[in-house]
Amino acid sequence: MAYLTLRGINKIYPNGFHAVHDFNLEIEKGEFIVFVGSSGCGKSTTLRMIAGLENISKGDFYIDGEKANDMGPRERGVAMVFQSYALYPHMTVYDNLAFGLTLQGVDDDVIEERVLASAKILGLTDYLDRMPRELSGGQRQRVAVGRAIIRKVDIFLMDEPLSNLDAKQRVTMRSEISQIHRETGATTIYVTHDQTEAMTMADRIVVMRNGYIQQVGTPYDLYFNPVNLFVAGFIGEPPMNFIEARIRSGCIELPENTIDLTLAVDREVLAQYEGQEVIFGFRPEAARLAARDDVSEAYKMRCVVELVELLGDNTNVYADLSGIKSIVKVDPHDSPKVAEEFEFYIPYSSIYLFDKQTTRRIKTRVS
Ligand code: ADP
Repeated sequence: MAYLTLRGINKIYPNGFHAVHDFNLEIEKGEFIVFVGSSGCGKSTTLRMIAGLENISKGDFYIDGEKANDMGPRERGVAMVFQSYALYPHMTVYDNLAFGLTLQGVDDDVIEERVLASAKILGLTDYLDRMPRELSGGQRQRVAVGRAIIRKVDIFLMDEPLSNLDAKQRVTMRSEISQIHRETGATTIYVTHDQTEAMTMADRIVVMRNGYIQQVGTPYDLYFNPVNLFVAGFIGEPPMNFIEARIRSGCIELPENTIDLTLAVDREVLAQYEGQEVIFGFRPEAARLAARDDVSEAYKMRCVVELVELLGDNTNVYADLSGIKSIVKVDPHDSPKVAEEFEFYIPYSSIYLFDKQTTRRIKTRVS
């Protein structure tokens, strides 16, 4: 059995709202798992059930093989880091870090040793005498993380810990939390609505929507092999482009653009969808240019440029592709001009196709 097992977990709040449906997941010791999804999809509710802060309405939860549904938060050996930091404003950084251990009656010299060791990991050594109000947001969040690691628990639970930080601090803290995870080896479950945080930090990501798991997989899996339209659109920035169209004679015919799907999808599969509406997808970064790349095995796309965003390492081209707003990424040296007609290519191996009715991915020859 895995280290943490969630089997058929459901949460129905007292007002009758069914917030989490049949959540199944096995987590190995030491894994860094990220729950990601839009606000309200049930991430925090699931985390709080794991923490023991919210009861489990239905299903079984095991820690290291032992049924844990009815264990109290302390018995579970978890430490939780909240978005709000939850620091004691009238205590110094040292005392904030030491507080949990003091309550447990740990000896002062052991406390000091652990506070100093944690402060070192978190770069807080020079701030131990300060009060929380004398710290930046990033430093406060480090103290909050420090309070969790000092307890030397086996399981860290983090609920949107970086959402109060500015963009730059978030990037720094992201790598610091990954580093702490490597150093402590603690099994970590991290909740965020930010797909970039999920992609950069997770061993495995759980994508949730409306209380249901959509897909569980490594960042690589979710990016290249999304199981449905939601995951395909949620993972990746800028998001995947989608074109809704009907298949006729194995092709999608758009004004100025014809996509011959027989080049990328098996005929038997295509036959099933003949005459039906599907969603064709490609990622902005899949675009290739004839001047630079081999485009012999690729769809030619014609569009009109509406906006060009030079980002330095690449350029985002916002375009009208047969009436559909699309984004493609190109090398900054190849940036087209606004209002120009522009041609790019999407390799057959980079296309996605979805069943419009079920939103599930349709198998293409390369997937
Ligand atoms: P997330 O963390 O993904 O933003 P939550 O787990 O906090 O989502 O909430 C999931 C859903 O459950 C939301 O629709 C929310 O309004 C609802 N919810 C959360 N707490 C309660 C509660 N105590 N009573 C009733 N509904 C709740």
